[in-house]
Amino acid sequence: MKFISTRGGEKVTGAQAIVRGLSTGGGLFVPEKFPQVSAGEMREMLEMSYPERAAKILYKYLDDYDEKELLSACEEAYAKFDGDPAPLVRIDDGVYILELWHGPTCAFKDMALTLLPYLLRKGCDICGIKEDILILVATSGDTGKAALEGFKDARGIKIMVFYPSDGVSKMQKLQMCTQEGGNVNVVAVRGNFDDCQSAVKEIFASAECAEKLLEHNVRLSSANSINFGRLAPQIAYYFSAYLDLVTSEQINMGDEIDFTVPTGNFGNILAAYYAKQMGLPVRRLHCASNMNNILTDFLLTGDYDMHREFYKTTSPSMDILISSNLERLIFETSGRDCKLTEKRMKQLKEEKAYSITPEERAAIARTFDGGFADEDECVEAIYDVFIDTGYTMDTHTGCAMKVAVDWFEKNKNDETKMVVVSTANPYKFPQDVLYAVTGNDVKDSFKGIKRLHAATAMEVPKSLLTLREKPVRFTTVADSKCLFDEVLKFVNR
Ligand SMILES: *Cc1c(COP(=O)(O)O)cnc(C)c1O
Repeated sequence: MKFISTRGGEKVTGAQAIVRGLSTGGGLFVPEKFPQVSAGEMREMLEMSYPERAAKILYKYLDDYDEKELLSACEEAYAKFDGDPAPLVRIDDGVYILELWHGPTCAFKDMALTLLPYLLRKGCDICGIKEDILILVATSGDTGKAALEGFKDARGIKIMVFYPSDGVSKMQKLQMCTQEGGNVNVVAVRGNFDDCQSAVKEIFASAECAEKLLEHNVRLSSANSINFGRLAPQIAYYFSAYLDLVTSEQINMGDEIDFTVPTGNFGNILAAYYAKQMGLPVRRLHCASNMNNILTDFLLTGDYDMHREFYKTTSPSMDILISSNLERLIFETSGRDCKLTEKRMKQLKEEKAYSITPEERAAIARTFDGGFADEDECVEAIYDVFIDTGYTMDTHTGCAMKVAVDWFEKNKNDETKMVVVSTANPYKFPQDVLYAVTGNDVKDSFKGIKRLHAATAMEVPKSLLTLREKPVRFTTVADSKCLFDEVLKFVNR
């Protein structure tokens, strides 16, 4: 399987796509064509464990890797999870929650980032790369911690994480700033996530930066959700959820289902779209946003317009105005027109807006629709589900639940099963979830955890409880213009 760039001009192997992260010229790597999963393979996968299913899907894209080794890497990665890596919970007739937060950092990013170090290390070996790898990550909160945890003390790899100084939750910040490991560094960047992500993207796009780093025997790579190595492991859980619905006799093989996905950078929901392109019977994908509802508007109008206010919400991992992975979707629905995709991305950068044609919009609308929850609606969704079923969800999942409920209200006779994707453990956002469930406000996160436990009796993950005792190792705050100086300091250390 070869990979091409959304902005044209390149054709690379899977290993190269993963090692490089981004193509020259800033395009994203996409598979040359979508591999198919046959009915026979679906039946075989029914019997498989999660790591076996994941390895099967991955190998369809990454056939330059060794199949057996991929399987053992998946087994090792998902052994770091607490039980089933992607369990389905039935909360109502025809409504299920796919819990993707049983990994080491309690957010869905672990699904891919526990595996990425292997994909990258091995990718370097396949490509014959001798230099050390430096991973740069811009994070809206959860990616940073999951990447740090995944890459800590990895051989020949250093990792540096940048987060917006006033754009992550206290818990997320603590998780990152107390990170252990000899090869890690964490820097706060003044501004919001988009400033942070743009600054990091600029380093990646700069030939001058690359040259300077090569003088230090260092090569850049990315663990952001634009890296195909992040996307590929995410495709697997859509297959797995479907197969679990079949084995638990909730659906018959071949029935179509819907997913509602809490969306920020469009990576998670894009993986669902890729699964559909591979033949998974998916009917509709509901893209859920918070008040930063640029995607809701885009799906409705075909206009992607950043001229709007940026809100800081209680679902910070979705506080994003530039959804980078959307480039891969508009590339597909433009008929894989790389010139047009490049032009639109240039417009986005220069004019902060672009539009797709009515035909393209209609093509997207055949699969996607969008909705959003404001802060009160998110609270209400969490509260309603808790009161009705006893199930506790986090703020991101709360936004998704609101969008799913809206769908059912508009489509009362819809019998299609709905899977709401749950992206974080509620204890990652303890004060906000406590407020939603009980109406109580507490100032301190750990008090929030204690009270939330008292209210819900849900088990508290140890990794969050022990944060309190860990020493803070990283306190640097930098200007978004000076990030490369910080990179050089780290490399010279
Ligand atoms: C990253 C994240 C999201 C958004 O996922 P994308 O792939 O960026 O769309 C949603 N919820 C949580 C908890 C996250 O960490």
